[in-house]
Amino acid sequence: MSGNKCSYCGSIIDNNEEFCNDQCKHEYKEFNKFLEKRKNFFGVLVAISIIVTFFGSIVTVANVTFGISTVAMAMFLLCGTMLALPFGTPETFDRLGVKKTVLLIRILAVVIMIVTIICLIM
Ligand SMILES: [Zn+2]
Repeated sequence: MSGNKCSYCGSIIDNNEEFCNDQCKHEYKEFNKFLEKRKNFFGVLVAISIIVTFFGSIVTVANVTFGISTVAMAMFLLCGTMLALPFGTPETFDRLGVKKTVLLIRILAVVIMIVTIICLIM
């Protein structure tokens, strides 16, 4: 049965190895080291983004411009965090492999950023 996927790049591998080659194994280990070191910082940044978004939404009732600017700032913070620290859930890492998850999160970050900019212009 060939259902095994490389934990890093997501390629199908026939044998029972976890990675398709040493390069993938190395990249995977490096990424996990990076994730372990930065995950607390990542959590803090995401928490701040959520709190500021919440705060901005409330402020919008009193002052629309200030409220929207605050929410936009929170979105930019979130996107910056996603670009610098593209951490998915263990499930996405498992399903797609690290490489595709990182790419997917960065694309999502750019999309959110573009949408935010469009909303600010309009
Ligand atoms: Zn691989």
